[in-house]
Order: sequence, then structure tokens, then C-alpha cells
Amino acid sequence: MADFDRKENPGLDYQAIVDAVLADAEVYRGHGDVATYIPALAQVNPNKLGIALALRDGSVFCAGDANEPFSAQSICKVFSLSLALQRVGPALWNHVGREPSGSPFNSIVQLESEKGKPRNPLINAGAIVVCDQLMGRRGADTTLEELLDFLRTRSGEKDINVDEQVAMSESQAGHLNRSLAHFVAAFGNLQNPVEEVLSVYFRQCSIAMSCRQLALAAQYLACDGSDCRTGESVLLPTRARRVNALMLTCGHYDNSGDFAFRIGLPGKSGVGGGILTVIPGVGTACVWSPGLNAAGTSLAGAIALEKLVERTGWSVFA
Ligand code: GLU
Repeated sequence: MADFDRKENPGLDYQAIVDAVLADAEVYRGHGDVATYIPALAQVNPNKLGIALALRDGSVFCAGDANEPFSAQSICKVFSLSLALQRVGPALWNHVGREPSGSPFNSIVQLESEKGKPRNPLINAGAIVVCDQLMGRRGADTTLEELLDFLRTRSGEKDINVDEQVAMSESQAGHLNRSLAHFVAAFGNLQNPVEEVLSVYFRQCSIAMSCRQLALAAQYLACDGSDCRTGESVLLPTRARRVNALMLTCGHYDNSGDFAFRIGLPGKSGVGGGILTVIPGVGTACVWSPGLNAAGTSLAGAIALEKLVERTGWSVFA
């Protein structure tokens, strides 16, 4: 694990830093396009902007709309991947790869030539396969409850739920995700019925959480797979490192290279406008601003993270 004492400077005023980062990003507030292909997300106020920084000692520093729940969307892929790795172990990699796709999040193109094995677990096709592996022979509801329990336990916050209106909207607008799931199933890479798997996938995308809750829930990724405060093992250290590696290389679809270049931290975007990042050995940071760039990454959110790294030096390449 990275040496926290080396990277964390007790002299830093973290509240002043998150306040300054928000001020830096202010000029981009409302920029970008809110996701409209999921009708329920199109109604979100584009002017929201928030940041939460959670350090491994348990302290949390918030600015702006950091305590307001939003649609976590693909950020949840990080948590279902963690649980699937815990449950299935390395056999997961028989079903999904670990290479960046360089393609949009919902692309179907590579699935044909690669015979139904998605490039990585963070694109939609890969996340659908992860949901199927996480289910095993259990039902969709049990699987989803396990994910919600994990998020509640890890964040220490009980009030984390699926936004049923968003889930319904996702399902109704889910032609591409259905196509991806059927394509994967046609190659024999799903063990459960397509609609069962999608019921987990759509609802996992529709979990509503705040920046603060997401940053707290992901702390184990900053502490080599352990609960930062109690030391309790959540995920084997090697697996936590691999989740971080996949976030760095694949967490932003065809924008992953640019995100690594600009921010240099493992991260995962969601089309709800959230971005979760891991600062190994230090903590986690989550931003929210609903306006997206062309690849579905929050525009002002990415700027805020760039400024956070500028102000702290917390790139994994530092
Ligand atoms: N629910 C979204 C979809 O499946 C997730 C995409 C994202 O958040 O990047 O289209």
C-alpha cells in the first residue's frame, strides 16, 4: 500500500482545498450535456456541482452539492465487480476481459469479433456479464439486496436505495443494453435469463447516492482492499489493486486515456454526472455535475478532479 504519511500532509487544510477546487470548477457549472437517452436523467438540474473527499482516517470534506443523492449509474459497476471477484474469483476472467475498449460505453461492435466476451467489466456489456456472474444461481432481488447491503455497510449510511423511476426509465429505453445482453447470451456467456440479468443491471445503475456516500463506500479501494479504519478485509489486496487498474485503464470508456493523462487516478464515471476516484493509500474523492462530455464523463467534474490533483499532487504517477 502506498505510504499515507508520505502523501498525506497533516498541514494541508483539506476543507480549504475542496472549497478551492469547487471554485476552480465553478466557471464550468452547467456545461456539457445531461444524458437524455434515459428520460428520467434528462430532468436533472444541470447546475448541480459537488465534491466529497474522504480520507482513510475517516474524515470527510465536502463542498457544494456533495450530500445530495444522484443517479450513481456506472459508478456502481465498480462495486458489483468487487463483489463478483469476491464471489467467483479468477474464473470471472473466463467471461470478461481486461483490456480498454477504446469504444463508447454501449458499443456492440467488438462483441461480434470477440465472440461475446466483453473487453472489460466497466463497459456495459462487461458489466452485464459481471451482474450475471454475481447472481450465480440466485435471483435478481437477492443479488441486488446484496449489492445494496454492501454499499450501506461500506459507507456506514443506511439510506441507500434504487430510484425505481430511473430504473423503469432505463428499462424502457434499454434497447441497446438488451441487444448487448442478447448478443452475449447468444455466445453462451450468460447463465441466467437475459431479463433477470438486466433487472439487476438496470437497478444497479439506478442506485441513488451522494458524493459523500460514494466516496465512503469505496474507501476499501484506497486501503488495499481493507476497511481503512478497522482493517477488516473487504477484498483481497491483489483484487483491490486490479479493480483500481481497471478503473484507470477502462473507467471512462473511450475517454479513459484522456482521464488518466489529465487526472492520473483510478476513476469511474457515470452518466448521472458522478465520477468516483481512488487515491491509493490516501482516500477517495467523488464529484458530481450532470453535464457530460461526448464520452459520458462529467465535464465540470473532471475539471474539478484535475484541480484537486494539481493542488495536492495526488496522481498515482507522482
Ligand atoms: N445506465 C447506463 C447505461 O447502461 C450506464 C452508462 C454509464 O453510466 O456510463 O446506458
